[in-house]
Amino acid sequence: MIDPQPTCSAIGRPVLTANLLSWYADIKRDLPWRDSCDLYGIWVSEIMLQQTTVQTVVPFWQRFMERFPTVQALAAAAETDVLALWSGLGYYSRARNLHAAARVVVHQWEGEMPSSREQWQSLPGIGPYASGAIASIGLLERVPAVDANARRVLARLAVAQPAEFAGLNPAQQQKMIDDLGADWVPADSPGDWNQALMELGALLCGARRAHCPECPVRNHCHAWQGQWVEQVPPPKTPTAAVPVWVGQLLVTWRDRILLVPPASPPVPGSFPGRKTLRADFGKLHPGLWGLPMTPWLAGHQTPPWQSEAWRSWLDLPEKLWPSSAAFRVAGHFRHGITKYRMRVEVLQLDLDPRQEMPARWVESETGSNRIPKAKQGLFFAPRSARPPVSKLTDKGLHFQEDTGV
Ligand code: SF4
Repeated sequence: MIDPQPTCSAIGRPVLTANLLSWYADIKRDLPWRDSCDLYGIWVSEIMLQQTTVQTVVPFWQRFMERFPTVQALAAAAETDVLALWSGLGYYSRARNLHAAARVVVHQWEGEMPSSREQWQSLPGIGPYASGAIASIGLLERVPAVDANARRVLARLAVAQPAEFAGLNPAQQQKMIDDLGADWVPADSPGDWNQALMELGALLCGARRAHCPECPVRNHCHAWQGQWVEQVPPPKTPTAAVPVWVGQLLVTWRDRILLVPPASPPVPGSFPGRKTLRADFGKLHPGLWGLPMTPWLAGHQTPPWQSEAWRSWLDLPEKLWPSSAAFRVAGHFRHGITKYRMRVEVLQLDLDPRQEMPARWVESETGSNRIPKAKQGLFFAPRSARPPVSKLTDKGLHFQEDTGV
């Protein structure tokens, strides 16, 4: 058991609280989910904001709320429609969990939204942070919502003896700060307090740089007064980045693009002298479609091409291939997944639009053009009505649209 005293303490807490809240009231951004006290809208915003910036989230939130304005509408939707609307936002497990949680609320709780943090936390995909944020903002419950930004601010404000703090292991440090975070939440404005701490961490009290002279709570801050801002939290050892090369195949026919279903294996091929880092995509993008991809190869250099291997894997009728047809490099983009720094090469092949495509490549079993019939699962989807795709594929397609390739 760690005793937070005397390692941590607050300098003049009531004034600190008043200063921080007053600063937040001045800088608070106009955000659409702040316009009302709609608990459902706050919930959707908090899930979207995880790992994603506010600027990115705003248009996604607006489209999502237009399409699914109530928890009932979300619960009644097909998962593929929810994922389609989430397409481009990344971290799709958030969308699947949100959808599953909406179904719990509607089907098991008769549409009654949770009325406490504890209840929120029992829903799929809602952990301590999200439950704290939703309950404090939407229900005004006096509970903390401590993300990495808030945790850094709290540590700098409260740690009085940095050497002692540095001697604790990371779990002990986090527990100490989270306990403080819970203790410091004011009863009369818990939501604003939580948002103010996070905003301070995002705008002024950065991990690499803190703008202390502009900070509204500098007179209450141990780190500023002791001039050891950079020491708390202790700098992390950066994880070494791993360079990866991936080829994406963009096969077009008329206004359609060839997609492969979720968990498709990579396009087969051998790449002598190159180490394969990943050839199993099963758990990478569950529920999402993608462009066909090669395995992930170590390094950023382009391997020898294997057009013939990929042609035979596609197994399309010969007449669709114009005599000059060949894969060409449409361009490159970069993408990061955890420690992997990917250089993605988009290889494009345009099939002869004058030729008809066999029905099995373009027709759907449902008639909605969403579910492919083809035995291999390959499917020429209309660009304007494609199934939900992974972020990696979305980048490849946007790259195409942005550059007009
Ligand atoms: S004074 Fe500096 S270190 Fe302290 S909370 Fe403000 S920005 Fe962060």
